[in-house]
Amino acid sequence: MSLVPMRILLDHAAENGYGVAAFNVNNMEQIQAIMAAAEETESPVIVQASRGARKYTNDAYLRHLMLAAAELHPNIPISMHQDHGNSPATCISAIEQGFNSVMMDGSLSEDGKSPSSYEYNVKVTKEVVDYAHARGVTVEGEIGTLGGIEDGHGAGLTGEEALKHLTDPSQAERFVADTGVDALAVAIGTSHGAYKFTRKPTGDVLVMSVIEEIHKRLPNTHLVMHGSSSVPQELLDIIRMYGGYMKETYGVPVEEIQRGIKHGVRKINVDTDNRLAITGAIRKVFSCKPTAFDPRDYLSPARDAMKQVCIDRMVAFGQAGYASKVKQVSMKDMVTFYMGK
Ligand SMILES: [Zn+2]
Repeated sequence: MSLVPMRILLDHAAENGYGVAAFNVNNMEQIQAIMAAAEETESPVIVQASRGARKYTNDAYLRHLMLAAAELHPNIPISMHQDHGNSPATCISAIEQGFNSVMMDGSLSEDGKSPSSYEYNVKVTKEVVDYAHARGVTVEGEIGTLGGIEDGHGAGLTGEEALKHLTDPSQAERFVADTGVDALAVAIGTSHGAYKFTRKPTGDVLVMSVIEEIHKRLPNTHLVMHGSSSVPQELLDIIRMYGGYMKETYGVPVEEIQRGIKHGVRKINVDTDNRLAITGAIRKVFSCKPTAFDPRDYLSPARDAMKQVCIDRMVAFGQAGYASKVKQVSMKDMVTFYMGK
């Protein structure tokens, strides 16, 4: 089975009431960790790469690693997604590299930093939808502005600032009608990176009610939560215990994500938690075994630590057990599907 259009995964998730974690990758060990977790829990998966990741891997390494994952795990449906495309050109180049799903983030200008206008967002997103759907590729758009800077994306907003840029449900409805996106990233007060909230997020900093309102208006659009790492305190503790420094910080509680899944959230982006797990594991080896210098000595535990985070999220989001249930659909059939719309 392996590479499956993301639209198919999300449709299946919607039909069965679960969410799918989208994990960011930059290297072999991260892809291996996700695939090992998917095997163990029998989960369909979304593997995504930011522009920064594509630059880091020079595309070709990433493409071949993804093909290796598909070859080694024929029973796991995998979607390969461009995270935060900053322009139609970025999305088109991703499609040329074999990504079967792209995000056109037109909520920001091409610099990936400054918020753009609604008109600009519709223009660039519609352009990508036309190009992508003609090739069977899924498109995620974004309306509202997410906070935090990570990998060259995000508007630099902190938790409280981000509150001023929440997605307006009526505008979300208009945006989907104007662009035809398959999935929509919404701003509900989350931000990218490790420093999301300075206190445990409650109803006033994380506005889950916005998701409920958008889902009511757009019951057939798959909603996406960005910046949805939970920043587990025990992962921060490991980093601190072995010489690292992390300020006090809180992420998005898994229960809040589960609440979102009940209201149309189908894709949940998780990156920071994996970074924390990897960093803690490597720090621990360096601290406990100062003589270690074979990269496998620290990359293996790092991979295991990330695998555990992936397993935890796959189980919590409900995707576990569904790998064999998702039907394979060719890109050609997807073209026909979109033409009929
Ligand atoms: Zn994001």
